[in-house]
Amino acid sequence: MTLRAGVLAVQGDVSEHADAIERVATAHGETAEVVEIREAGVVPDCDALLMPGGESTTISRLVHREGIDREIAAHVEAGKPVLATCAGLIVAASDAHDDRVETLNVLDVSVERNAFGRQKDSFEAPLSVTGLDDPFPAVFIRAPVIDYVGDDVEVLATWDDRPVAVRDGPVVGTSFHPELTEDPRIHDLAFFDSVET
Ligand code: GLN
Repeated sequence: MTLRAGVLAVQGDVSEHADAIERVATAHGETAEVVEIREAGVVPDCDALLMPGGESTTISRLVHREGIDREIAAHVEAGKPVLATCAGLIVAASDAHDDRVETLNVLDVSVERNAFGRQKDSFEAPLSVTGLDDPFPAVFIRAPVIDYVGDDVEVLATWDDRPVAVRDGPVVGTSFHPELTEDPRIHDLAFFDSVET
């Protein structure tokens, strides 16, 4: 089977995410076709979506201006997987406590932008993640923190007692950047659901 994965290509590490998706697809004996999303009309043909980091204000503006917002909502409604990382998580959330970010409300959490503070602007942490045997090397860059999770949201990882990875049905959100390491296990967890339950 070929997994058609769309990566929102407004900003962010598009090629790194594409590499990780291709690696996990190969590991599952499948192939991935990665397509970049910049305008409406691409999402409806995708099996999986990736919303990368960047600047959530810019990403949310473009997604709404291009009409991609409704297509992402329909994708989630259909139960198809989404991985939303860092600014992508902010855009996917139900609330970002910031008028400049119009969130998509496909992931029932609220987030606080840039919440780790100046001294911890960027850091790497070994993160225990539900479903992964060994800690994941998580890279945080001006990362958001999740300050509310809805009843149906599963917290997959916390750092400093705060949720930093969550799953809400088909949507997995992380405060950190899983594409910046060689470790594709978060992409695996989001798209191939290798978690044993
Ligand atoms: N600080 C950014 C924002 O609030 C997110 C940073 C990132 O994606 N690395 O949009």
